[in-house]
Amino acid sequence: MINVVQQLTSFPSPFMRAITRDRYNKGDCTFSCTQLINAPKRTYLATKGDKVETPYSSFAALLGTAIHSVLEANVDTENGEIAEQRMFYDFPLKGTDVRISGQIDFYENNTVFDYKFIGGTQAEMKPDHHKQVQINGLLSELNGLKVEHVAIAYLQRDWSYMQSTVNPLYPKTPFKIFVTPFDREFASKTLFKCVSDHQDALDGHPRDCTDEEMWAKPDSFALMKPGAKRASKLCATMAEAENEKKPGQFIQVRKGERTFCGSFCGFGNICPQHQNYLREVASQSKEEP
Ligand code: SF4
Repeated sequence: MINVVQQLTSFPSPFMRAITRDRYNKGDCTFSCTQLINAPKRTYLATKGDKVETPYSSFAALLGTAIHSVLEANVDTENGEIAEQRMFYDFPLKGTDVRISGQIDFYENNTVFDYKFIGGTQAEMKPDHHKQVQINGLLSELNGLKVEHVAIAYLQRDWSYMQSTVNPLYPKTPFKIFVTPFDREFASKTLFKCVSDHQDALDGHPRDCTDEEMWAKPDSFALMKPGAKRASKLCATMAEAENEKKPGQFIQVRKGERTFCGSFCGFGNICPQHQNYLREVASQSKEEP
């Protein structure tokens, strides 16, 4: 039998150093692009306390960093390719300059790339990634690069070579690239909104996080047959479930959750919005029979 304690304490020292080291450096600026596309309330909470992280919650980030390093080592700078370059810009806001920065993962053929290391497979460019790479496109242009397109290169970490050989519907490569025209107007408006929201947060007035930022999933109501593991039907409301319920079925309430708040934000323990939500959930479950 494997001795789990032994396993955790005896792995080579670089493992723990690598996984606990803070690899993120936003450079000498007030806001980084990565920060700007995150919830402004997190900027505010960072002024109130430290982010709580478990070493293994950053495992995916460690693997992502490793991939970035490998790809950077394969860049051909003599042919005009650029990798891992941080761009700065002094953004004018309410009569003062706010220094922002964004790091581009790669640039070639007038295209700014961002690499994303993801689980599952990716069918389209995620809206947040689109915002981030458009802002990086704008920062690149403001720093003298010609930008015509922006792109996200997804690296699908769960991709299986064997699946790709036997399943005709399965992606044939672990990489999925989405390229879209650089949209200067969209990037400028997005940047303005993000910098304004984050500056308000830094000044002590954060707006509330949105459902999208919290990865909020509402309660759902499953119609179940006794003994079945899967729902016959999933309904959005109790009224709909009661209406659709067939003889022999029962309704199983599946509690919603705020996945980002609970597992990834790191500020949930000092966040009034999240603490209020947890209190509401606790009082609802007390009221339930
Ligand atoms: S815990 Fe949730 S509500 Fe609070 S800052 Fe984080 S994402 Fe926003």
